Amino acid sequence: MSNTINILFLAAEAEPFIKIGGLADVAGSLPLALRSLPYQATGGIKFDVRLVLPLHSAIRVETATLHPVAEFSIYRRGGNEEVHVFETILDGMPVYFINGDPLSSAPSVYSLNQALDREKYTFFSLAALELIRHLGWQPEIIHANDWHTALALYALRSGRSDPVLAHLRTIFTVHNLPFMGGDGSDVLSAYGLIPLNDDSLPEWARTQPLPLGLWSADAIVPVSPTYAREILTPDFGCGLNPYLGTRANSMTGILNGLDVISWNPETDKSLATRFTADELPARAENKSALQRVLDLKEDSLVPLLVMIGRIDQQKGLDITFEALRRMADRSWQFVLLGSGDPALENAARSLQADLPGRVRAVIRYDALLGRLMYGGADMFLMPSRYEPCGLAQMIAMRYGCVPVVRATGGLKDTVHEGKTGFLFQEAEAGSMVEGLVRALTSFIMPGKWQHIQRNGMKKDFSWSRSAQKYAIIYRSLMSGFH
Ligand code: ADP
Repeated sequence: MSNTINILFLAAEAEPFIKIGGLADVAGSLPLALRSLPYQATGGIKFDVRLVLPLHSAIRVETATLHPVAEFSIYRRGGNEEVHVFETILDGMPVYFINGDPLSSAPSVYSLNQALDREKYTFFSLAALELIRHLGWQPEIIHANDWHTALALYALRSGRSDPVLAHLRTIFTVHNLPFMGGDGSDVLSAYGLIPLNDDSLPEWARTQPLPLGLWSADAIVPVSPTYAREILTPDFGCGLNPYLGTRANSMTGILNGLDVISWNPETDKSLATRFTADELPARAENKSALQRVLDLKEDSLVPLLVMIGRIDQQKGLDITFEALRRMADRSWQFVLLGSGDPALENAARSLQADLPGRVRAVIRYDALLGRLMYGGADMFLMPSRYEPCGLAQMIAMRYGCVPVVRATGGLKDTVHEGKTGFLFQEAEAGSMVEGLVRALTSFIMPGKWQHIQRNGMKKDFSWSRSAQKYAIIYRSLMSGFH
């Protein structure tokens, strides 16, 4: 084995170029973390990871720093598609941007039109694979993420006879299983992909990008150990659980990391007061500031509960609303920051209308307010129905805001009952009330509460931890253990 393993990392979005969701955090951080792993941590191996992204029209990169590196075409029925590839360097890492008609004609990164998205991400996936022949740099591993890039793995596996690509090993990270890309029969045949003839996948799944990516991958990585187990069950497996059961030996759950430089209460300029784990009393100023800007009663003793995130069924907002209504006779304040599902947004407004003195529903995206909430609130609520990894609970712990979460997926793996937060078992209000009551009981014991806050603040959520786990998988792929 050579001392360097070359990896081509494919994603639909990545910080700092473009961010829609959590995938951008992962794709912006993990490749760089892998590149900077110290030799001692990798058994003397260096990882030359390079990122491939679509050149979305909204991408944040100066055109002047983009250099053309390749031009070629890929097969599409009715006329080949031209591909233009540009390169920029991010902290020493080559980043390749793919452009072509299916991408430049799309107005947004993801649209509500699944057929449009399938066309453009199929184009992107196949162009990224073809790029390997034009780079003068030979990857040994392709690392795909979610359905948008899954077909690169399928095209590779179904065309194994190709001598340039035949030796490539593949890894597929699953950030969100339910988003599979939809029925792609049309686009698969338009781009000349061979239909899958293998009944190990259910028939409906044989034309959907994500299941085809799973089928093709040598290694599968769900984004937390618990989620990796959960998707083997009917409740979380979205119909793929029987197939995933047959692949259990190829699956390893790895938690995402956190950008610990950006998310640091010691340096965060959005806070009224910055603080460390040893300066917890200073945090009270952030709580007061938050109460003031939201026109809530300024009171350090009343527990301030918050939620920040997409307003979606997945996140269990309705469970929180019901739990809080049942706890109306207790003292608390609640602030929600988020936007999304209109029905749930209205339910949040109703809760505020019914409890105007202590509920604030802030329906917008507001990064600065979010930071002040992490740095000033007492408890962070996440009653998610499912949570592959979750980032917000890690940020909350880093900012001394104690998470009260449902014991599922990455929440179960990152929050520890009574030590760094509180967990409840069921995605329903009664179970959440029990968790909240335990948290509220601890809250009135300042010594105990500060101990929990400090435990959370001192946890290591850095990307280098996750990168080391990915490094083990890359190495095992190269030595043929997968
Ligand atoms: P998901 O990726 O499923 O949306 P995560 O918990 O992994 O959920 O990440 C959510 C991230 O987005 C957190 O960093 C959270 O602070 C941020 N976020 C989501 N909605 C908002 C909002 N309305 N205002 C500010 N930050 C938000």
